[in-house]
Amino acid sequence: MMTLKREKFRRLNLGSTYDQHTVPIFHASCGGNKCKPLLKTLMTSHCMNDCKFCPFRAERYVHRDKWEPKELANVAVKLWKMRKIEGVFLSSSVYKDPDSTFESQLEAVQEMRNLGFTEYIHLKVMPGTSRDLIKQGVQLADRVGINIEFPNKDHYEDMKLFLSFKEDILKRLRWVAEEVKKAQKEGKCKAGLDSQMVIGASDETDKDIVRISGYIYQELNARRVYYSRFDPVHHTPLEGKKPENPWREYRLYQSSFLLRDYGFKSKEFVFDGNDRLNLKEDPKFSIAKENDLLVDINEAPQKELLRVPGIGLKTAEKIIEKRPFKTMPSFRQVGVIVKRAAPFIELSGVRQMRLSRWLK
Ligand code: SF4
Repeated sequence: MMTLKREKFRRLNLGSTYDQHTVPIFHASCGGNKCKPLLKTLMTSHCMNDCKFCPFRAERYVHRDKWEPKELANVAVKLWKMRKIEGVFLSSSVYKDPDSTFESQLEAVQEMRNLGFTEYIHLKVMPGTSRDLIKQGVQLADRVGINIEFPNKDHYEDMKLFLSFKEDILKRLRWVAEEVKKAQKEGKCKAGLDSQMVIGASDETDKDIVRISGYIYQELNARRVYYSRFDPVHHTPLEGKKPENPWREYRLYQSSFLLRDYGFKSKEFVFDGNDRLNLKEDPKFSIAKENDLLVDINEAPQKELLRVPGIGLKTAEKIIEKRPFKTMPSFRQVGVIVKRAAPFIELSGVRQMRLSRWLK
């Protein structure tokens, strides 16, 4: 059966690597060095839309395919029983309208659950989907998200995304967040809400990306905002555009973790004259430098310790457990990266290193 499905897997594949049996397995990172093998696929690659950056845009010639809901459910359950996958990531192009597309996804997921599939399911909602369908998705899946693609409405027209940023995207994201909150009280949808943006396809600024990411994390309680670096696709209007610098994606991920885990607000980030982050510097370091940060390691509460470059979540806990410290080298034992932290730490009223000396 798997050999017969090979072409379909290839056409509906979403960034998976193939094993020796040509089954598309995506190794999703789940913290630390752990990965979860997922069947990551589109429901259909037929799309009525024409987003400039996308390989599945309607005007582009590409072999298209689609799963029937029961067919996909049977494949997922078979792969699970063969111990090839521990979950499913299901997105889609929009072949008719958002509701009928999402209904097919729901039918497939419902069928997986009916067949006893108890593993992780990550479901992408189509922008503009009705609330009732969103609610059903949240009841069935472990994580539910909507890709916002760009940080504000200005880029939608430019990229030919003929959607309302306010109605089809932000309102739906809020609905997902509200349904997730309710479902989590019943022990469902434990992996929460996520979203994703394309970086570098339009002229979006880091300031706008950080601002909307802050909203998604802090107001909608998202578990993850993903950034997907633009890479031009042949036979699209953007085929001649340069791929985005990987460092930009990396700095945005660093910012995103500061927003999610470290209590930073989007307005605190430091941008250059073009509203971009400094690619050569950790954003946490830029903020500390800009504010001439000085933290007493023996006295500061956890939220202040977390503002120091070189002090992470676990290290801050260990500092509180093991302090007081008398000398700088003793910080190393609890995991402080002294090289980064020293200019921002004081001990017994003495700054451990002048920033000007550190920068030399
Ligand atoms: S709606 Fe989605 S699949 Fe269709 S062209 Fe736009 S980004 Fe691509």
